[in-house]
Amino acid sequence: MNIQMVDLRSQYDRIKAEVDSAIQEVIDTTAFINGPQVKSFGNSLASYTGAKHVITCANGTDALQIAMMALGFQPGDEVIVPAFTYVATVEVIALLGLKPIFIDVVADTYELDIAQLEDKITARTVGIVPVHLYGQCSNMELILELAKRHGLKVIEDTAQAIGAVFTFSDGRKAQAGTMGDIGTTSFFPSKNLGCYGDGGAIFTNDADLAKKLQMIANHGQAKKYYHESIGVNSRLDTLQAAILNVKLKHLDRYSASRNEVADAYDQAFKNHPNIKIPKRATNSTHVFHQYTIQVEGISRDELKEYLAEKGVPSMVYYPISLHQQVAYQGYGYNAGDFPVSELLCTKVLSLPIHTEMKMEDQAYIIESIKSFFK
Ligand SMILES: *Cc1c(COP(=O)(O)O)cnc(C)c1O
Repeated sequence: MNIQMVDLRSQYDRIKAEVDSAIQEVIDTTAFINGPQVKSFGNSLASYTGAKHVITCANGTDALQIAMMALGFQPGDEVIVPAFTYVATVEVIALLGLKPIFIDVVADTYELDIAQLEDKITARTVGIVPVHLYGQCSNMELILELAKRHGLKVIEDTAQAIGAVFTFSDGRKAQAGTMGDIGTTSFFPSKNLGCYGDGGAIFTNDADLAKKLQMIANHGQAKKYYHESIGVNSRLDTLQAAILNVKLKHLDRYSASRNEVADAYDQAFKNHPNIKIPKRATNSTHVFHQYTIQVEGISRDELKEYLAEKGVPSMVYYPISLHQQVAYQGYGYNAGDFPVSELLCTKVLSLPIHTEMKMEDQAYIIESIKSFFK
């Protein structure tokens, strides 16, 4: 048995003919930079997500940086960001000389705690970055309401939630990344829509903002060699776009497969005294980038080690809250500032979930976990 967190090889095997011919076509035409596949993928992604404009770029971290540059955030400005998330979100805030204002998360949905949001807003606050962690949307209705009231920009980090759908109280539905001023995503291989290297994209419904984003991603030029603003060099390779063009067609099936795996885990552990299964938000679908349990009453790390011995991989996303990372000590936060995030770092465990999970493999994973408690 060879169980992996993510089985990209079997996924490739199923679409090999399509992918191989798409790659070969790029090589045959040698249009490695900005080939026609880049544009066609951007267009397909726009129609898939419902975003009016999609700007592709080199990775999800760049997407966040370009977003903050396009919104004109200035050094010293404050941006509110969850303490419990991947580092990229706060990293670009720091790199641009902005000030990360951490906020704790909700223990069972992992979204930023909206109840604490208003208290964090000061005269210097310019933006909020909700992260749709593990694959379901934060409560965008409340976040957008609050942002509007205080004149703040909203950047949705949807690197883990592409395809998730949020339903507003009036029944309107929108995809992750298309509700705020800007949405950002990543095509890192293990993401739900992953390429075979690095890639990223930025979503917006605002035509002026789209122009700015496009310009910044391309050295600050709208016309070649005429630089209107300081930009960056952040491109999606044509090869990656060609691969993504193929994989986007399968994304709904991929999300459905992930949900089947999640449902089977839910069934297996829903009454387990030591395992808390992930709570599904009532107003968002889930695309299960991760299936993350909370281990209660016993040592998460001992369970992880035990599973490893049985050939079952598992991961801790994330072991340290961002405000306690060495790199971010300069912002004056202390242990105890974000108790929910800090506790989650000791309890969360993500189990193997991917698009090609075999039933017998999942049965073995479940049996292995249960046997730890016997
Ligand atoms: C993966 C990820 C990113 C960064 O994406 P890269 O393409 O690796 O730069 C940003 N935010 C979150 C929440 C992520 O999961």
